[in-house]
Amino acid sequence: MNIFLPSSKRRLSIDDPRKEKDETDVLVKVLGTAQDGGLPQIGCYCKNCLMAREDERYSRLISSIAIIDLGEKKFFILDATPDIRIQSDLAFNRVALRKQGRKNSPHGVLLTHAHIGHYTGLMFFGYESISTHKLPVYCSSSMKNFLSNNGPWSQLVSLENISFHVISLEKEFLLTPRISFTPFLVPHRDEYTDNLGFRISGEKRELLYVPDIQSWKAWNRSIVEETRKSDVALLDGTFYSSEELPGRDISKIGHPFIKTSLETLKNVADEGKTKIYFTHLNHSNLALDPEGEARKEVEEKGFGIASEGIEFFL
Ligand SMILES: [Zn+2]
Ligand SMILES: [Zn+2]
Ligand SMILES: [Zn+2]
Repeated sequence: MNIFLPSSKRRLSIDDPRKEKDETDVLVKVLGTAQDGGLPQIGCYCKNCLMAREDERYSRLISSIAIIDLGEKKFFILDATPDIRIQSDLAFNRVALRKQGRKNSPHGVLLTHAHIGHYTGLMFFGYESISTHKLPVYCSSSMKNFLSNNGPWSQLVSLENISFHVISLEKEFLLTPRISFTPFLVPHRDEYTDNLGFRISGEKRELLYVPDIQSWKAWNRSIVEETRKSDVALLDGTFYSSEELPGRDISKIGHPFIKTSLETLKNVADEGKTKIYFTHLNHSNLALDPEGEARKEVEEKGFGIASEGIEFFL
């Protein structure tokens, strides 16, 4: 079992050998693991972007997960990325939900915040594309205001392509009889909206999702405790270390380095109860190279780099 290999060719159906023995009807499937700009990034010919262009297995879609109720045959997408057309196929295929001659859409979309990698995929639910009717969008009130008051997003509202379900912080919401989620506030650049993280609960387990955060210290919660009480954690792994950012003022980097997180969460990883993965990887990330030293360090310390297609039964 090696969960750290590059993702399988995404257009093939992925026969995932990594299922846990203790399967349930609730599944989180990772649909993407790159920072907002994707991998390869437009116009970038750095080592990682070149590798991703030469071999699709090293490319990464932008961070997103599908939350799936296999019993109800329903799925929800957490963050609507610019890659959502490919990502929704991964989810439709997994749920075997492909009605011919009819419009297919997820049963809802959850949003963290209004940076380009996290919400702009909503455009594909609009008039120029599938034109959904009242697709439920779960988001904060500041996100609702942003989308309602700025084009082209406001057209999704006026044409009723989407309907808002405003979520309150720290309050548990039921998506299906088996799935609930609790949103919480996370410090992160907030030019347009606030920024949420999510705790997702299934039948037996919980998953913590925090793809974008300024730093663990800036948060009013303890990442150690939050991770410890989860079974799986998918955390901000934008940058591996300052080495990949020569000339940048470290104090202005708006993300925790993976190297710092390995130290901060060392005890939780050693305890072995929580699987901790890093996601939202920038194209510069040293841990992208599966043969590199950075990746080796992550894995030796009991952590993982998330990859497209991996699944967690909750
Ligand atoms: Zn982001
Ligand atoms: Zn690059
Ligand atoms: Zn962001």
